[in-house]
Amino acid sequence: MVAPVRTTCAYCGVGCGVLATAEGGRKVAIAGDPAHPANRGRLCSKGTHLGETMGLEGRLLHPMLGDDRIGWDGALDLIATRFGEAIAEHGPDSVAFYVSGQILIEDYYVANKLMKGFIGSANIDTNSRLCMSSAVAAHNRAFGEDAVPACYDDLDEADLILLVGSNTAWCHPVIWQRIEAAREKRGTKLVVIDPRRTETAERADLHLAIRPGSDVALFNGALAFARQAGLVDRDYLDRNVAVLPGFWDGLGADVAGICDVAQADLDRFHELIAQYPRMVTLFSMGVNQSVQGTDKANAIINLHLATGRIGMPGAAPFSITGQPNAMGGREVGGLASTLAAHMDFAADNVDRVARFWRSDRVAAKPGLKAVDLFDAVGDGRIKALWIMGTNPAVSMPDAGKVRAALAACPFVVVSDVIADTDTARFAHLRLPAAAWGEKDGTVTNSERRISRQRGFLPLPGETRPDWWAMAEVGKRMGYADAFAWPNTAAIFREHAALTAFENDGVRKLDIGRFAAIDDADYDAFEPFQWGGARLFGDGRYATPDGRARLVAVAQKPIDAQPMILNTGRYRDQWHTMTRTGLSPRLSQHRREPLVEMHPEDAGAAGLAAGDLARVATGQGESIFRVSLNDGQRRGEIFAPIHWTDRTSAGGRTGLLPGQGVDPVSGQPGFKLTPAGIARI
Ligand code: SF4
Repeated sequence: MVAPVRTTCAYCGVGCGVLATAEGGRKVAIAGDPAHPANRGRLCSKGTHLGETMGLEGRLLHPMLGDDRIGWDGALDLIATRFGEAIAEHGPDSVAFYVSGQILIEDYYVANKLMKGFIGSANIDTNSRLCMSSAVAAHNRAFGEDAVPACYDDLDEADLILLVGSNTAWCHPVIWQRIEAAREKRGTKLVVIDPRRTETAERADLHLAIRPGSDVALFNGALAFARQAGLVDRDYLDRNVAVLPGFWDGLGADVAGICDVAQADLDRFHELIAQYPRMVTLFSMGVNQSVQGTDKANAIINLHLATGRIGMPGAAPFSITGQPNAMGGREVGGLASTLAAHMDFAADNVDRVARFWRSDRVAAKPGLKAVDLFDAVGDGRIKALWIMGTNPAVSMPDAGKVRAALAACPFVVVSDVIADTDTARFAHLRLPAAAWGEKDGTVTNSERRISRQRGFLPLPGETRPDWWAMAEVGKRMGYADAFAWPNTAAIFREHAALTAFENDGVRKLDIGRFAAIDDADYDAFEPFQWGGARLFGDGRYATPDGRARLVAVAQKPIDAQPMILNTGRYRDQWHTMTRTGLSPRLSQHRREPLVEMHPEDAGAAGLAAGDLARVATGQGESIFRVSLNDGQRRGEIFAPIHWTDRTSAGGRTGLLPGQGVDPVSGQPGFKLTPAGIARI
């Protein structure tokens, strides 16, 4: 009997521990890891059925130049040559990487070092920009650093949980199971703030179906109420928080009107806030994927800081990430707006990183964020692009525009496990990546817990880990010494050492402790939560004066539109379905993409359940089957993000949202697109 391998789930940011047992060939038995603190043995449907997705159907197994095999040496030489030529002729900012919250910390580290450290550009961004970059920006504004204060245990210890813009029951199911267990055990109250009556909202004590985009007004109103009701913690503010003059002005005007909720529901919301100081506010894509996402997150954080509900058990603002390693990418610095190891591009940071990497080419300024990056591809500024583990031809807003950009790019490399993705169709060169279960490394989940992903299957065909391919290109570009790691343990040691290098920040030194970890200890690495269970218990923050910031945020006007489109996930599918689409059981939950709309809106448009309808926006159009749902607000329709050219003739939601972004974070606003819907 083969012993199970302890690894971490391939999918979401909950980061559940998985026991995987290879049973011969590609057959794998999956169970939850009872020893992993994130899930304590629980798994959701996606994790449970991972074993059904391990086959080689559709896999990319060889490096391919167009339709021809090229072999790794030829492929790597070609990348080094084409990137080198672009850099020589047009400078380092003429090339870019677009990576993914699916790749591992070690992959991220090598990508970041190659692009920012040796190519000398910060043009490396990630699909995490689409996921949680507004939470990152809000943390930086409020705490002086990108740090999530909370841990999952806080969900067990809270008396009140606010879920904002999160269909947790579908999108973070094991967190949801934990919330349900806590409610059962201690009677925790649950408020769900979401324009849609989702499965999560149906289970809430109070559902506030607010007008989309009105979250800032709602939380500013809650803060005004807290002040009036004497809930503001003056001692905490005096000691630990900087309140700028004028902060309290204008909070709380006409909240019920702006948010379009009943005053009685708003009063109940305020009563619960007053009654239960142990309050966790969990927020996700409904907050982040907005052109005012950073302000929304800061409005939530303001309420917690002002009432002192942070840094103690059961009380914190808590951003949960969508992807398995969105957080690890942040730690490495895999966003165009971060240099490395949570450092920004301040001159002393650039100097420090340059000395650590022994490079005189380190990027000195931020690079292009996702939307701007693909704009630069489209207008010819980017001459060579390497995309890794993500499918921007589907997932970027206005995906049609992104497709046109990719088609015009002189040299596109795509590293993926799947041979035929919508993005791979634009690639000049495709590289066969090692998949989950074949590769080794680490990921960080939403509560800052680093866990190992471990390989338990041999590499099929000519597949290789992403870090290896990038290191080989680094060597071919002339940086052999800087990219000579024998394994992922060595990369992790270097990442930890950079994190600690001349760094007196205690939290970051927490990762720095692994700078000397040996290969055996890396192999046996137990899940580790950097910074400890929760942050800011001492009331000290990473700002120059050690005090957090109450950031004044004002609700922006919300344009009245006859119909708006909201987008999101289904329970049993993941991103563009390249893995979950392989599981017959997962496909039973929703067999096709549906556009959900209120029955009265449908009636007015002459639509009935099951009709085919064309959804059109300023960016594009696609066809969906209509599903009637009185949990939709009037004037709002919802469509899932998963289906692609490869999987469906219609339901291609990525073509529809616009490219408006949050001005601070650069995160696109997927949730509020003016749209029309008509029978076909
Ligand atoms: Fe995997 Fe997320 Fe499900 Fe856990 S909750 S099993 S990490 S998909």
